[in-house]
Amino acid sequence: MTDGLDRSLLAMAERGQRPRCGDWSEGGQWLSEDPEERAAAARWCSGCPVLLECAQAALDLKVTFGVWGGVDYTRREYRPRQST
Ligand code: SF4
Repeated sequence: MTDGLDRSLLAMAERGQRPRCGDWSEGGQWLSEDPEERAAAARWCSGCPVLLECAQAALDLKVTFGVWGGVDYTRREYRPRQST
């Protein structure tokens, strides 16, 4: 289901590269609970060498959260539970 993305990521790794979302210092933005951070992450996907494969994987996996291939798939915003 994600074979294309897996192959492309492995090829990047063999070249000593990784996508920006794989950078420990900022990778959390792609799964952030803050919609503004996810919007920034989606912009940072631009120019990613595996963007098309990532976008296809998101469709194949029917993802419902996080940023994939420049698109924020998070369907429901995080809301802290209210005490009763
Ligand atoms: S396109 Fe996919 S792999 Fe590339 S930075 Fe965005 S989320 Fe990461």
